[in-house]
Amino acid sequence: TLLDAAPLCIKWFDKKGNLVSVNRGAREEHYLEGKTEEEIKKWDYFSCIEKEYHDKIKDAMNLAVEGKPSSFEIKHVSGTSKGEWCSSSFEPVRSEKGDVEYVLFLSRDITNEKNKELEKQSHIKKIEETKNALYNILEDSKESEWKAKEESVRSNAIISSMGEGLLLLDKDYRVRLLNNKAEDILDISAEDIVGKNIKDILTVWKGNIALDEKEMPVAKMFKTRQAVYANIKDDLYFKTFSGKKFPVGFAITPLEDERMMSAVIIFWDLTEEKNLDKAKNSFISIASHQLRTPLTSLRWISELFLFGDVGKLTGKQLEFMEDMHKGSIHLLELIGALLTISRLEAGRATIDPVPTDIADITKEVIKQLKPQISSKQLIIQFKPEENFPKINVAAEFLRQTVLNLISNAINYTPNGGRIDISFKKELFDKKEYALFSIKDTGIGIPQKDQKRIFEKFYRADNAVAVIPSGSGLGLNLVQSIVAMWDGKIWFESVEGKGTTFFFTIPLTGMQSKKGEVKLFV
Ligand code: ADP
Repeated sequence: TLLDAAPLCIKWFDKKGNLVSVNRGAREEHYLEGKTEEEIKKWDYFSCIEKEYHDKIKDAMNLAVEGKPSSFEIKHVSGTSKGEWCSSSFEPVRSEKGDVEYVLFLSRDITNEKNKELEKQSHIKKIEETKNALYNILEDSKESEWKAKEESVRSNAIISSMGEGLLLLDKDYRVRLLNNKAEDILDISAEDIVGKNIKDILTVWKGNIALDEKEMPVAKMFKTRQAVYANIKDDLYFKTFSGKKFPVGFAITPLEDERMMSAVIIFWDLTEEKNLDKAKNSFISIASHQLRTPLTSLRWISELFLFGDVGKLTGKQLEFMEDMHKGSIHLLELIGALLTISRLEAGRATIDPVPTDIADITKEVIKQLKPQISSKQLIIQFKPEENFPKINVAAEFLRQTVLNLISNAINYTPNGGRIDISFKKELFDKKEYALFSIKDTGIGIPQKDQKRIFEKFYRADNAVAVIPSGSGLGLNLVQSIVAMWDGKIWFESVEGKGTTFFFTIPLTGMQSKKGEVKLFV
């Protein structure tokens, strides 16, 4: 049961190197779900591993039989397994007498890490499964003593082969357990910190500001008994008392048994991802600046030609010039969006909030989009709430948000469809918000694309088929804007049926801020 609960792909072998069995993770990983135990014993696991890794695995197996663990990365033959890359280790498991009894071959899928930043969902799953492993360490086993020992050997093997740091704290914030990776990342040895209060070991920072004790994520988790997560967007850092400060992603979850509640912290170092992100943003900002000037000249020059200021053009020349003019405006808009996004992300945008009537803004946007709405014979319905208070926001940003969402609804709804727009007051966490919704009867967002739809440049295939020239920047921009006024944005969508986008604005509005630049789009 424990091996099945482990968030790893585990195969175990007898001391002669014969496959004895595999856990649920391995069955799922290698599509072996329907196989019986007998079939598994005969299964040739080399068939799903690229040839060049076979010798490495045989060597590692021989070492493990001699009692020496080892670890390395391997690649799967495409189509044979769910993940492409995994980090594997061979762990000998000894009997009470100390002889190697059998060998565990533990693998963790690192395809995502290889390709991009770790995804939150997989962490949630891992934590649930790791929790089970931890329960086994903490619980007094009712089984016979040797079995308890054997289980703890296995649990330890699982925890120590994790790629993330793991800390277990009791309710007094004392460290009860940590794995090797946690020692590595924090640059601290277990002997120095087990039994000590975590507050004497590290502090948590948001950018350049150290968080108060009350704001510490662990304190939040103990207070609410709810898991607390952070990823690269949260801009959090751990700083140890030896002075090491690094950007961190983590998941902190409660672990409760009859006697007390503990906290499981699983964390990972985001230094590399952060550097990549910075490099990417400064590249976008520099590239866009460099492109704006020549493109602006191109736009003005084509306008001079189109207005006949430099002589009359023939029919064909006029047509080409119009294409060039349209193209340069499209590119300028794109670059404008990229610049605005990078400024919002870097916190460098100017914000001038003024009391704004959301209904007026929405009506203006609908008016502006009338030609597209009529040409597709769409029915558009807008029900503004009477006497809705004005909200103190940067009106241009709000207009951009509404414009992007309504444009998308128009673009991705076939002729004759329907769009319903509304807003109302709503309480979230005891705070008053305006809740805005835009509902369409369009092509919808396929389930497989939903997780990534707010990423820069990401577009679903069904949208590309309808509008090949979209940029995939609108939703990313809208998301950054909504985050700026502490709102939330989300959607519900069924492919082929339609999509509803929602966003919120706090009725208290937003603070003004002097930045370097104003909205560009
Ligand atoms: P663009 O519309 O230029 O592609 P966006 O960032 O505005 O860029 O949208 C990103 C993607 O989100 C779209 O390409 C499409 O796949 C999906 N999308 C956004 N709004 C809708 C909608 N109302 N209906 C269906 N898909 C949508």
